[in-house]
Amino acid sequence: MPQIIDGKAISAQIKDEVKEKVSQLKEQGISVCLAVIQVGNDPASSVYVGNKKKACAYVGIESLSYELAEETTQEELLSLIRELNQKEEVNGILVQLPLPGHIDENAVIGAIDPRKDVDGFHPQSVGTLCIGQPGFVSCTPAGIIELLKRSGVKIAGKECVVIGRSNIVGKPMALLLLRENGTVTVAHSKTENLKEVTARADILIVAVGKPRMITAEYVKEGAVVIDVGIHRNENNKLCGDVDYEDVAPVCSAITPVPGGVGPMTIAMLMYNCANSVSLQ
Ligand code: NAD
Repeated sequence: MPQIIDGKAISAQIKDEVKEKVSQLKEQGISVCLAVIQVGNDPASSVYVGNKKKACAYVGIESLSYELAEETTQEELLSLIRELNQKEEVNGILVQLPLPGHIDENAVIGAIDPRKDVDGFHPQSVGTLCIGQPGFVSCTPAGIIELLKRSGVKIAGKECVVIGRSNIVGKPMALLLLRENGTVTVAHSKTENLKEVTARADILIVAVGKPRMITAEYVKEGAVVIDVGIHRNENNKLCGDVDYEDVAPVCSAITPVPGGVGPMTIAMLMYNCANSVSLQ
């Protein structure tokens, strides 16, 4: 049977490390504060925002909550961001996505001071990741690197295939694997012969956004498989982009859904918040 990579345990370990760091900062008279902005009351977003605030409370980071009405204008939101950019006591600014259709997400992300961009979505953060300079890294891919390292998976020199090229998962994931000296291929919706491409992977990262699409036929014997997807199946149970039952017997290690990549995103957000102090 493969090693089951336990995201719940690893994320708990990271949160405890952040808690320790935050408490050391407090002893030096430095407090850490995250501003969380939600526009509208999309139920899924409310759950994410609630979980982020809970994690802040656990690690000792203060959270400021801005719950704005659905009809908030782009200018009103930008003006709040500019105000928070100026506030010295605010270390991180997080705008929960997706935003209502009348607001341009890129304009909003671009307005956040890159020194407070704890989600790592600002073009400057993506640029620093690309050229290997210090900066914030998008939380989900950063969490996947931690999962691999803390599970003893060697990345350097390995064939890494990422399925998906989104700005928040696929692209930063590929850059991070490259930074760890992996040999990286990015597959996407226009890739031809996907199975041949993925069959080369020693490490296969699946962020395709299609429930249980990746079956054993896509996976090399002994590969490490990381499943980023989150969906509800026909019985309302959570499942990933990987057909877990089919793939687990052929791989050497795999992340489950739930309890794999999911819990890592918030843990790395806490890590970014604690780290923001040294970038400011
Ligand atoms: P997305 O829809 O933005 O991107 C999907 C990518 O898959 C695209 O780049 C597309 O080119 C590629 N793709 C689509 N169909 C394909 C096919 N048939 N063959 C090959 N490539 C194909 O999704 P995303 O935002 O990157 O998220 C991916 C998945 O991860 C989703 O299920 C999402 O819910 C989940 N997710 C989880 C977390 C977490 O914290 N665990 C965070 C972000 C996203």
